[in-house]
Amino acid sequence: MGKVVVVGGTHGNELTGVYLAKKYGWLIANPKAAELSKRYVDEDLNRCFAMSKLSDSHTKQSDCGSSLRGALAANQSKDGTQKSYELRRAQEINEILGVKGSANSPDLILDIHNTTANMGITLILSARDEFLLKIAAIIASEFTGIHIYLQPEERAESPYLGTIAKRDICIEAGSQVHGTLNAKLFLEVEAVVLRILELANTDFLACQTLQHCTGGSTIVISLPVYTETCNVDYPRDENGNITAMIHPNLQGKDFCELKKAMPVFLSFDGKEILWEGEDCYPAFINEQAYYEKGIAMSLTKREILEFNLIK
Ligand SMILES: [Zn+2]
Repeated sequence: MGKVVVVGGTHGNELTGVYLAKKYGWLIANPKAAELSKRYVDEDLNRCFAMSKLSDSHTKQSDCGSSLRGALAANQSKDGTQKSYELRRAQEINEILGVKGSANSPDLILDIHNTTANMGITLILSARDEFLLKIAAIIASEFTGIHIYLQPEERAESPYLGTIAKRDICIEAGSQVHGTLNAKLFLEVEAVVLRILELANTDFLACQTLQHCTGGSTIVISLPVYTETCNVDYPRDENGNITAMIHPNLQGKDFCELKKAMPVFLSFDGKEILWEGEDCYPAFINEQAYYEKGIAMSLTKREILEFNLIK
């Protein structure tokens, strides 16, 4: 595979990626937030990579004759308001990495994140892509506690950093308190990233798809895959205040089955709220950064994919 880019610190307080990026000289996507150990400075960087958002300024910059007008334009949005630090940084990253949607864009981006949810190491794939699923299957067979999470995206308007590349894997690792390090998770994520790099840099794909490798034995890997279906917010009052917490029985139960009538929330006066929806597998349960986004958990459906791989 051609151009592979590893990124950490897209969220500045997710320290596994920040310190892995420092160790290996990988890109720290949001250096200002990383310095402050904050998720972001002005807005969530990982919501700034839709084509329409990235293109905000390109025409203005190239239209401007003087460098002063160019500099002003680069700092302003189409509507004349000041651009956020993250939007400017997203546009800069897009230029550095080779421009989303162009032939020169990276072939693969690995973007390292942490979550306060108990998700182990979760590989989030933004497309149901055979090559990525095979890499995921191998990782899941070689490491313990790996989950594969599909979040199919309309690539051009997807806001995530990884979508600059032709393919991407977002690596979520938790549970970890934002702004802290966890040595065990750090070492596990490091090993997973290095193994993905190894797989991406061999003739692995050609070998697996053309089936022309000789001397290898075929193994069947059954891979549980969780596809995101929707997000669920906390119960709220008419003023938007949260009125219940994640139920203790659900806390930490990411990727476990949630069935009808099981408790999901517990109100501040101890009343249980039971699940009334379809059976599903929640993830990102009680993620700290999602309180502001109105997300208590994301729901997924589970399926088993089978892969014949040549070892
Ligand atoms: Zn993150």
